[in-house]
Amino acid sequence: MSDEIKIQLTTTPGNKPDSSNLSFGKYFTDHMFIMDYHTEKGWHDPRIVPYAPIALDPAAMVFHYGQAVFEGLKAYMTDSGKVLLFRPDKNMERLNRSNDRLGIPEVDGEFVIQAIKTLIEIDKSWIPTEKGTSLYVRPFIIATEPCLGVRSSYTYQLIVILSPVGAYYSGGLEPVKINVESSYTRAVRGGIGYAKAAGNYAASIKAQENAKKEGFSQVLWLDAIEKKYIEEVGSMNIFFKIAGTVITPEINGSILEGVTRDSVITLLKDWGVPVEERKLSIEEIYEAYKQGQLEEVFGTGTAAVISPVGELHWNEHTMAINDKKIGELSQKLYDTITGLQAGQLPDTRNWTI
Ligand code: PMP
Repeated sequence: MSDEIKIQLTTTPGNKPDSSNLSFGKYFTDHMFIMDYHTEKGWHDPRIVPYAPIALDPAAMVFHYGQAVFEGLKAYMTDSGKVLLFRPDKNMERLNRSNDRLGIPEVDGEFVIQAIKTLIEIDKSWIPTEKGTSLYVRPFIIATEPCLGVRSSYTYQLIVILSPVGAYYSGGLEPVKINVESSYTRAVRGGIGYAKAAGNYAASIKAQENAKKEGFSQVLWLDAIEKKYIEEVGSMNIFFKIAGTVITPEINGSILEGVTRDSVITLLKDWGVPVEERKLSIEEIYEAYKQGQLEEVFGTGTAAVISPVGELHWNEHTMAINDKKIGELSQKLYDTITGLQAGQLPDTRNWTI
């Protein structure tokens, strides 16, 4: 894919939102990137155009059989005015794993990163600069062929939109309350759980809404078969520090392989903290809690980076972790990753571009 990106600039730039009140994914910048796919032409016609609604045939296959995948990453404005992306190559690798699972054609990751850079350069003035804010980058691919046959579409669109987003924690890290979901299932092994597919989020919404009503911020999913082993949280991977060792579920086919998860594991290993990626049951966690060995629990994901868990509810049991305070390791990981993302710490691993 070496086509040149055509650029059509807007003649009606939008008003920028107040950067102290951004929340998440509510505002969009002036432009978007689009590229088409046809089985006979491959990916073609890459272009940057004014942000606007798109027209799709009502029979477009995405509406009927759900061939839709996406990614999420953030661009940060450094103090010196440089714009940094954090490990976008990882997002592209994952996008292609998602594509493969959903029968969507592979994309040239390097080309898409180039397109993202060009788009951000054009909409650079939309990047908020207040501490903790960033520009969220949302690439996604949808099946566009008008056809009601159940098969993979012959045509697709890859679109990238940008959204200025607020600090996840405006007043510093805050421990969250999580409910272990005992009836609904997010994903099964052999299914599409490891893909960043729209359908996985549709499957999760009902449990998530129920949990919200009961005052929890997210649900913790268990495995589909035995309802015993830890999977992940709504939009985060999850880590448990038990008697000095940090344990996270292994990549098993049903959980999403998070970029933040990988960064955390790498940092912990570099710091000499013992890390295990393995099957981990909710009973094991409860036992560790009863013995006073459950030292920290935290979620990892692009949105929050690190989200300390203060309370974990599992059926009738409530586990208050680390006196509901932010753990030392959670804070250190948060400071290190956000420091790297903002260009304030030396990037010895070449994670930022
Ligand atoms: N699991 C799920 C289901 C997610 O949606 C996300 C967010 N992308 C994550 C884990 C964390 O992944 P990452 O660290 O790449 O954001």
